Amino acid sequence: MRAALYLSAGNVVVDDVPDATLSQPTDAVVRVLRSCVCGSDLWSYRGVINRAERSRLGHEFMGVVEEVGDEVRTLHPGDLVVAPFKWSDNTCPACVDGIQSSCGNGGTFGAPGTDGGQGEAVRVPQADGTLVAVPGGLSGVDESLYAALLSTSDVMATGLHGAVMAGVTEGSAVAVIGDGAVGLCAVLGAKAILGADRVFLMSRHADRAAIGKAFGATDVIAERGDEGIAAVRERTHGLGVRHVVEAVGTPESWAMAVGMAREGGAIGAVGMPHTMPELPLFQPLIHHLSLNLGVAPVRRYLPDLISRIVEGTLDPGPVFDTTLPLDDVAQGYAAMASRESIKVMLT
Ligand SMILES: [Zn+2]
Repeated sequence: MRAALYLSAGNVVVDDVPDATLSQPTDAVVRVLRSCVCGSDLWSYRGVINRAERSRLGHEFMGVVEEVGDEVRTLHPGDLVVAPFKWSDNTCPACVDGIQSSCGNGGTFGAPGTDGGQGEAVRVPQADGTLVAVPGGLSGVDESLYAALLSTSDVMATGLHGAVMAGVTEGSAVAVIGDGAVGLCAVLGAKAILGADRVFLMSRHADRAAIGKAFGATDVIAERGDEGIAAVRERTHGLGVRHVVEAVGTPESWAMAVGMAREGGAIGAVGMPHTMPELPLFQPLIHHLSLNLGVAPVRRYLPDLISRIVEGTLDPGPVFDTTLPLDDVAQGYAAMASRESIKVMLT
């Protein structure tokens, strides 16, 4: 089979690799219909972190179950499924607490020794606890929904998790810092799922701001730093917002998040650069801020997100602004590295 392989910084190719096969009785093999490139895939592409030569790439995918191990109970060959970017057993204490991203038997697709999503097929460990079948199945779900379904594998669930951690509920005013795919999905999650009333999107890119508006942003604020904070405060009677989603993860974006949060507000942080910043905690302390951080437990959100997409009440599909065949994966990495593309989908 064919799959994307990392060769060196700036050099990603598609080549022949051994076919995906069952290795444990709890495994499934999924034939990939759609996968994509993530901002975190760019860390090694940019040479910021090391990665083994010829290692597999990608952690977001949706597809069709091809084969299941003897102990897999809930999935069957032919099922249309979405995979979270991490696998999980969905039964250990962390999973029962809804933090499947910390599963004691979990792992991340594309990590050393695992299959990556950017290929023709993937071995999925802990298949019952990981994969979520799409109602309607392969014959009942239109291909036009594949992009939206794929987004739930990471960015839609991650953006929503940021808004959930920020405490967004019906009628909330929320600010979203970050206009990448996760930030845009945080706007959509806050508005369409959690019922926020006012959504401030910090963005200075017209194409991203347009998607943000389509997703429900009521205010797009181009200023950054202290000017960005002032712009949000001006629009909230000087008070700031009770809910902030931090979807960047730099010292500058954190300073903005803390600066625009209202007294007693909450910051939901999902921004994860390759190096996390050291945080000064004095301001959060004196302003009574709750800081909630975490790698999104995508599996927790998947069934609900998938249902909404199939029912037609949620469409995060527009976060993919570029679609390429798997064979052109190198072009996809280049487009995302140069920020020409928000997010690249591979077919
Ligand atoms: Zn678990």
